[in-house]
Formats: sequence, structure tokens, C-alpha cells
Amino acid sequence: MSTELTRQALSQLDAADPLTAFADRFILPEDTIYLDGNSLGALPKGAAERAAQVVSEEWGQGLIRSWNTAGWFDLPLKLGDKLGSLLGGKPNETAITDTTTLNLFKALASALRTQKTDAPQRRVILTERDNFPTDIYIAEGLADLVNSLSQETGVAYEVKLIDDEASLRAALDDSVAVVALSHVNYRTGAMWNMDEITAAIHASGALVIWDLAHAAGAVPVDLNAANADYAVGCTYKYLNGGPGSPAFIWVNARHHERFWQPLSGWWSHNKPFEMSQSYTPANDIRRFMCGTQPMTSLAMVEVGLDIALEADMAQVRAKSLELVDLFINLVETRCAGYGLELVTPREHAARGSHVSFRHEHGYEIIAALIDQGVIGDYREPEVLRFGITPLYLSRTDIWDAVEKLREILHTNAWQREEYAVRNAVT
Ligand SMILES: *Cc1c(COP(=O)(O)O)cnc(C)c1O
Repeated sequence: MSTELTRQALSQLDAADPLTAFADRFILPEDTIYLDGNSLGALPKGAAERAAQVVSEEWGQGLIRSWNTAGWFDLPLKLGDKLGSLLGGKPNETAITDTTTLNLFKALASALRTQKTDAPQRRVILTERDNFPTDIYIAEGLADLVNSLSQETGVAYEVKLIDDEASLRAALDDSVAVVALSHVNYRTGAMWNMDEITAAIHASGALVIWDLAHAAGAVPVDLNAANADYAVGCTYKYLNGGPGSPAFIWVNARHHERFWQPLSGWWSHNKPFEMSQSYTPANDIRRFMCGTQPMTSLAMVEVGLDIALEADMAQVRAKSLELVDLFINLVETRCAGYGLELVTPREHAARGSHVSFRHEHGYEIIAALIDQGVIGDYREPEVLRFGITPLYLSRTDIWDAVEKLREILHTNAWQREEYAVRNAVT
């Protein structure tokens, strides 16, 4: 195949691609190939204007009236429904609010509380050793909280870590309350089969929380078809909501009225403006909110979301798979012999939308690439990670990025001292 593969041929494929036009909806710097949209999505056209409108008109002129007149108060749920439609959520099951980390805490706490009633011997939170660290830390924090406050002796909640599907299945005994998995692994790009794994977890009597941080907007997801219990994720990655934009939480309607989540702030109250002296939770997804939301940031989420909703997810997925295949093929043919080792699964059904390679000088190579306008990122240990976002990347972008990588490897340009200096954020 590689002998036929030319930049010219790829550019013809780009010209015929119905998704090519979406690149015009984003603003990216000149001379940059952006392969980090899985970490911070690109800036959609219209987002800056929307933010300016919120600041000057809705805040500046509307002032406090905008909570009613500009739809601020309902925005987390309005946008939640839009996003829910992309993830197989029903109306009123999704809210855009808080951070992924906080939403995970709420989901874990609700799942434990539900199991405390249904199956009190279930005290294990199962998650992945290779999960994004915050997912493990927040589970440890919750277990520590409930144990330290408990009057009971000899029983404790604990976090256990699994390594792969076999160890997950082996660990699913009657001690497991809830399993929290990342649908797409942040480092390797490996993807769980949501339907099968959810069914296996339910068959064992546990509940499941899916972290969709690297899946939402990147791969087709149908939470109700999978019969999942909870899901959380970011809007600043493939959904292009902007740096630190509010995250989302989806809760299957069957769990809404079971228990409070413990961050029971006034936005989760049934009637927040009654200013009641005691707490009565809302009966829908509002129960999973906490306090006042960042309206400027939330408003920008809608701009990214509307673009994602216009695109056909089947086309996005097909192009993502094609671009990742192309990336792998070009690295393995044009950068052969330089020690790059693929860590992402080749099988389509087993991977998300980014591709990673291991190299002992991964950090320096990524630093050199970024310096030359090809922005990927580095994840410990030794992993070069490239996010593939079909809405604003073309086949020729992939070609040009790999050519730059080849040049850096061939000339040893990565060996310059400055590339070994570690930044605070990698
Ligand atoms: C990006 C990411 C997060 C980020 O959480 P924040 O609360 O936004 O910092 C959490 N979990 C996973 C799996 C991620 O990929």
C-alpha cells in the first residue's frame, strides 16, 4: 500500500470528504497541525463572540435579570439534553456542570449509597490501574471519607485496581459495589466494549460508571442501549468547549430518585428559591448539580456542541479510524527503524480516536515536534500521544505531521538540550 500512498492522492481524498468543510468552523493558528484535540479541543468560530455577548450584554446590560431573561439558570440542563442526544441519553438525564472529577465523586457516592441498601456487603470500588489518575484518587478519597466516618468496625470500603478484561471479570464477585471505567484509555487509546462490559458488570450485581472523557464527541456512544448506570466526562476535549469548560454527568433515570448525592448544594434542591431551611432533592438530573455554574464558560460549550451535533457521528468515526490507520501506516513505513512502538490497539473496535507510540526519548521528540508546529503531547511513561479530530484534521495534515516526525528522527533534531527541559504541563 505504501508505494501508492502519496500526499497528492491523500489531498484528492480530502477534497471528496464531506467532513472537510467542518475545518472552516474552527480557528487554528497558521503553520500548526493540531494533534491534541483530545486534551484541549480547538477554538470554534463564534465561541469568542458568544463569550463577549455573555459578558457585555447578558452580564453588562442584563445584570442579575439574565438568570431569567438569558436562560442562564436552565443552561446546564438545556445543554445537557443536547449532549445527551449525542450519547444515547434521554431528555432530563444529562447535566453540564462542575468538573469530571467532581461528577465522578457524585456518581460513585450515589452508587455506593444505592448498594448500601440493595446489597450492603458490596464495599469495593473497582477501577483501572491504568485509569486517568484523578479517577483513582477521587475513589480513594470517597472510600477514606466513608470509612473514617463509619461507626462500624471491621468493614471498610476499598478501591481495587484491575489491569485488563480478564482481571476485571475475575474481580467481579459479590464484594464489588461499583465499577468505574474509562471508555477510552487516556494514554493508549484502547476502548472497552461498553455493551458487553456493562452486561457483565450487571450480571455480577455491581453498578457501572463510564468515564467518557476521551469518548464523547469522538466515538459513537449509546448509554441507554448499553443500559449503563452513570457516565461522566469533559466538554473541553473532543467537544471543543474551551479550557476548563464544565463537565457532564449522565444518570440513568432509574437511579434519579434513589438517593442524594452528597454534594447536595442548592442547585440540586427541588425548589432552590424557596430558600428552605432543609434539603429536599430534585427528582431528576438536577439532583446531580451542586452550586452556581460559570455562565461564560458554559455558554461557549454550546458553540462546540452545536458543531458536534451537525456532524454525522458515523462519518466522524469512519474518518477517525481511517486517519489513525493512515498515521500508523505512515509511521511504520516512513519512520521505520527509529524505535517507535505502537501502543494503541490496531483493531478498530478496540480503540478510540487517538494514537500513541512509545519511544525512550518520547518527551524530547514531542518537544521538538511542538517546536516545529506539530502539536501532540507526552504521557508518562515514554508515550507520544496524537489526538485525531476528524472535524478539523485532513489526510494531508497526517501526512505532513508524520513527515515532520520523520525529519526530526532522521536529523536527531530532538537531541537539542532545550527539548529535555520538562514543562509543568506536558
Ligand atoms: C481528562 C480526564 C479527566 C479530567 O478531569 P477534570 O476534572 O476535568 O480535571 C478525568 N478523567 C479522565 C478519564 C480524563 O481523560
